[in-house]
Parts: sequence; C-alpha cells; structure tokens
Amino acid sequence: MDRTQTLGYPRIGKNREMKRALEAYWKGTLDGDALLATFAEVTRESWQAQAAAGIDLIGVGMETLYDHVLDWSVRFGLIPPRFRNLGGLDRYFAMARGVPGVPALDMTKWFDTNYHYLAPEIDASITPQANFDDFLALIRAGQAVLGARVVPIVLGPVTLLRLARLSVDFGDMLSALLPLYRQLLDDLKVLGVTEVQMHEPALVLGDAAGLRDDVETTYTTLAEAGLSLNLVTYFDDVGQNYPWIVALPVDVISLDFTRGNNLALLQTHGWPQEKTLGAGVVDARSVWRVRPAETLALLATLRGYAPQMRIGASSSLQFVPYTAAREKALPDALRGVLAFAEEKLAELRLLAAGKTADIDAAWDAFRAFAPTDAAVQARLDALQPSDFTRALPYAERRPLQVQLPPFPTTTIGSFPQTPEVRRLRARFNKGEISQAEYEAGIDAFIGYTIGVQDGLGLDMLVHGESERTDMVEYFAQKMTGFAFTQNGWVQSFGSRYVRPPIIYADVSRPQPMTVREFRVAQSYTQKPVKGMLTGPVTILNWSYPRTDIPRHIIAYQIALALRDEIADLEAAGARAIQVDEPALREGLPLKPMRWDAYLTWAVDAFRLTVGGAAPETQIHTHMCYSEFQDILSAIDGLDADVISIENARSGDEMLRALADYGYPREVGPGVYDIHSPVVPTVEFIAGKLESFVHHLQPEQIWVNPDCGLKTRAWDEVIPALRNMMAAVQGARSKGQEARSKRQGARSKR
Ligand code: GLN
Ligand code: ZN
Repeated sequence: MDRTQTLGYPRIGKNREMKRALEAYWKGTLDGDALLATFAEVTRESWQAQAAAGIDLIGVGMETLYDHVLDWSVRFGLIPPRFRNLGGLDRYFAMARGVPGVPALDMTKWFDTNYHYLAPEIDASITPQANFDDFLALIRAGQAVLGARVVPIVLGPVTLLRLARLSVDFGDMLSALLPLYRQLLDDLKVLGVTEVQMHEPALVLGDAAGLRDDVETTYTTLAEAGLSLNLVTYFDDVGQNYPWIVALPVDVISLDFTRGNNLALLQTHGWPQEKTLGAGVVDARSVWRVRPAETLALLATLRGYAPQMRIGASSSLQFVPYTAAREKALPDALRGVLAFAEEKLAELRLLAAGKTADIDAAWDAFRAFAPTDAAVQARLDALQPSDFTRALPYAERRPLQVQLPPFPTTTIGSFPQTPEVRRLRARFNKGEISQAEYEAGIDAFIGYTIGVQDGLGLDMLVHGESERTDMVEYFAQKMTGFAFTQNGWVQSFGSRYVRPPIIYADVSRPQPMTVREFRVAQSYTQKPVKGMLTGPVTILNWSYPRTDIPRHIIAYQIALALRDEIADLEAAGARAIQVDEPALREGLPLKPMRWDAYLTWAVDAFRLTVGGAAPETQIHTHMCYSEFQDILSAIDGLDADVISIENARSGDEMLRALADYGYPREVGPGVYDIHSPVVPTVEFIAGKLESFVHHLQPEQIWVNPDCGLKTRAWDEVIPALRNMMAAVQGARSKGQEARSKRQGARSKR
C-alpha cells in the first residue's frame, strides 16, 4: 500500500479558538502564555486528527499564530529597522498588524488562493540571523504526539526570497541565508528527524526558469546535511522546468496533480527511478470528494512511472474547513460528497487501499439530489454574441445617461455596519422580530444613509448595504445552487476567517434580490441612487464551485441571474447600476501564459451581466485589493461606463497607467483610504484631484472614496465625505474660473 503524506492542516481551531484568543490578546484581556497555550492545544488537536486518520508522514510547521511566512521572516532575522526596538510577541504582531506610526509588513495574496501572507521585507540593513527556537520546539512537541511520523515543513529559501520585497541582490541574500538553512537542517537532525519538506511553490510561477541556478545551488548545499529532502510544489505544474527540477539532489519530489498538467510533463519526460514521487492527488483547495474512477486511474498511471510513490493532498489543507461531518443542516446527499480536511485525510487512506465504493455511492446519491436545471442550460445554449454587448457604443449611449455636475461625487456602496445594524440582523435571524419589523429597521438605516448623502450634497447616492453581511453571501443566499455551512471557516489572514458558500448545482435567480431596498432608497431622494450588485467573477472566486462544471459556465450562470436583476432594477427606475468585481484580478492564473484564457471568459461574464442594460442605464463597476496595471485592456473590455478603483494607498502609478493606456471612459480613482480611521483633510483630497486632472481628462473624473465604508464609523465617514465635497467644490470653482477666463479671452477677440 502507498504511504500517505500531508503538507499542512487547518490551524484556526475547530471552533475558531485562535481567533478568539488572538483578539483577546490584542485587547489585553488574555496574556501571552494563555495565547500560546491555545495555540498548543489547537496544534495538538490537528496532529491527533491526522494520526487518528492513519497518515504516515505528517507535515508539521505550517502551524502559526498569524502567518507562516511571517514566522520564517522572524526565524531568519529578517526584521526591518522600524521593528527593531520591539521584541517577542509585540514585535511579531507589530510586523503583522502595525502599531501607531509603524506600518505593518505588506500583506498580499498567497499565490492564487484567498489566503494573505505578510511579505518579507529585506533591505541592506538586514543581516540574516538564526532564531529557530520556536520552530524546534514545535517539532519536538509534534514528535511527542506523533513520534517518527513528524515531517518538518520548511519554507524554502528560493520561495522566501521570491516573495520578499527585496532591495538587495537576490543571490547575495540567498548566500547569506543558505548557511542558516543548513544549520536548521542540522538542528532537525539532532532531533531525530529523517525527512524534511522543503516547500518551494515559487517553482510553479511563470518566471521560475530564471531561478534555476539559485535552486540548484540551494539544494546542492542543503543535500549535504544528509537528511532526506522532500521538495514540495503546488498550485500549478512546474512547466518547462520539470526536467531540471526532477534532477535536483533531493530524495522526494511532491507535485500537484489537481491543477495544471504535471501528469503530461511526467509522461513526456519520465520520472527519475531513484526518487520518490509525492503524488498530490487529493485537491486541498476544493471541498469535494475525489471522483474515485478518475483518481484511481491517475494513481495507476503514476505508479507505472514512479515505483516509489506516496499519496498526498495537493497542498496544505488550510484552504478547506475542518470537517463536513458537523454540517448537519446540509442535506445528506450533499454532505455525502463534501470533503473538508478530515474527510480528505480519510480519502488518502481509502485511495491508498483502493477502497472507494462508499465514495462512488455518495456521488450516485448526489446526482439524483442535484439534477441539472434544464431552463438554465437552455438559456446558456441559446446565448448569442450580441448578448455580450451593450446596444449602443459608449459615445452614443453616454449622452442618454444621467447628467451630473463636473467631478461627480459618489461612494462605493456600503455605509457603516454599526452595532445597531448588526443587532437588528441578529434579532431577525434568531426569530425575535418579524420580517416586517426587520425590513422597517433596514429602511430606517437606508433613510438615514440617504439623508446624510443628500445633506452632504453627493451627486449619485447609494442605499448603504445595511441588509448585507457580506457582498457574496447576500447574493448567494438569494440564488439557487448555493449551500452554506455553519462552521466552514477558513483563514483569510491572521484572525480574519471567511465562510465561502458552496456552489453545488446550476445557478438561477427565483426572485429579485435587491429591488426592494433600491426602491426604498430612491423614494427618499430626487438624486439618482445606484443599484448595487456583486459581479459574477467575484461571486465565483469567493465561493467553492463544483469542480466538474467549467468555471466559465458557472460564471455565465451567475451572470444571467444578475442580468435579470439589472432588468428589474431598471424597471424600478434605476438610472445607474454598479456591478462590483473586486476579485477579478485575483483570479488570474499563476502562469501569465494562462491569463488570456481566464480574462476572456471573466470579461465575457461581466459583459453578459450588463449586456442587456438599456443604453440610458449607466453601468458602474468597482475594483480593489490589487494591481490593475497589467490587466488594463481587460478592464477596458468590460465596457463599463464608470469604474471606481482603489488607488489612495499607491502613488499615481494607476493614473499614469490609465493615461498611458488611453482609457476611454469615466474613472473614479479613490481619493482616500477607507482602511484607515484617519479623516482625510480637504487639502489632501484636493491634492488627489489635482493629480487626477494632471493625468486624466476632467470630464472623465469621478470622485469617491477608495472602497466601501462598512468598516468605518459614522463619525469618521461624515467628516471625511464633507471634506471630499469641499475639495470638489474647490475644483469645480477652479474649473469655472478657467472656463470663464477662456470665454472672456474669446469674446475679446
Ligand atoms: N459595494 C461594496 C461595498 O461598498 C464593494 C466592496 C468591495 O469592493 N470589496 O462594500
Ligand atoms: Zn473595494
């Protein structure tokens, strides 16, 4: 029987113990020892679960208080100067979250997952230093529970540097780190460790070929420690680098067979017979059970190439929740085909033993439970190219749309989610108040929100989203095909966890989803209120979709549902509708060669959503959280009339990029950072407007905050928006002066 291995496990606690402990520690109601005790308890439970499932080689080392990449920065002494007067947990959490006057490390997405890590920051002032005590203690604790099954997980030096914000030479820093890595391996050897997982996911990136020399030097050096090294990659195949990667002086190579096409590479180039293959065949990032016929066939093929093989999850299991078994509210037929971390552990053993009949039976039951929706399928089949295009081009439809003063002002959608809003929702969910009472409460919040915007003089208003907990969950709950867990939390970053919906069947929209709240909002004002929708790509990217239906098909299904919503909003009088796509950029594949294919269908899904909108309807979109410079042509392809875009934290790179590109429609680059409690001054915002005018045509410019305001308080939002309006008044009168001067000059002539 093949042996089984894991590459990491959920680490937030089955009942979100880590979140509670961290937040109490930050508040000062829990001390450091108690925090570490919770960590030790959560960690031990995860080891026991893996041992109980019979896993042979259990990866230990992804466990963390906040972020595993930050842990390695600290262990190698990669401490930027601004944190050096701090120590211990204070320094650790300052690097993670910042303290007043000392910004945190940059946080960014871990490859193409929805997990965020803290980027190592390495400048010339840094001399790496070994600080492995916590890691060695973790390994010893693991050995006390698991004995020889412990396989330490080490973040490889090439990936650590590839992900770093480096202002020194890569090769120099690698040379400085390698002796420390070597020392770490020696320390592990002293503990009786025989194998170490070296995680090098950077080897799947498009530019990995350029790292070849560094990787070869690294593993030649580390091999001298005399430990068995397991070189681990995941999230995609290793591409053209396969031949030299499998020739590296390591004993085991673990590859992801659930994404990309490592199988074809192995079939083309063969497998080095002396090496063990770690076959990542259980998808650590989907919530579905394996399809036994497919996976067993894959394993049989792999065995034909690699006589020494072990079976594993494709990556760390931290990207799925703990267990589907607890989700008792889900129908049995659905729960039966869900595999979260615990179920995936069981699958590894079942696959190794070839005992998968129960999984087959579960899939049979599921097929009967979730039949395809013939109406949805028929609608997809009937799609025409014209469905993806607005009836008139921008130049012709723009004059038909709302006319607003120069530098029109708006916001991104949400207004403060106050304790009162949350209490109202909680009372409704507990059944303490009726639907009518709940709606009356929401309407009062909408009324207040509209009143504030009207009073401040904004030009295009929003209803404030007080009825929404989450921009994806809200829509998912109103469409068919989505299921929700009660405990299915996964870590987004630090103590922030999300509970993505599961898309288990064809998606449709039985009823309008946002029209009631729109009508209420519009009834309070003469100003136009924007309809507010979450886009198809974002809904898809922030859910766990079915893996047997192509992603673009699911995106189109969601798009059709939203398209109907747009028609209903128009019928209710909406003159502008915003379709948010904050997650469009983050869905980009890891390898640039696959970008086009993704962007093509992602853009089409958006265009299908808005393609039926009347020419008179102004379509807005909003994006945030990432760099958009490299996908400007896709953004242009959305053909939105107005795009608002997060910008306030960067300099004017985004503006310059839009200008260089010649972006042809209207843009609202954020004028202030909503993530900060600091109220921006009029001068600050006026400065932003000046830089907008410098780069863009004045007629193109909208004025809005960076993103939604739901995390802020009213006493932050009102003064900030008041200052925004004052800055705009200034810009408008300046424009007025300029215009009358020009006119004056003309009439004199
Ligand atoms: N309309 C949403 C809001 O204002 C957009 C949120 C987002 O971009 N993430 O909250
Ligand atoms: Zn945003």
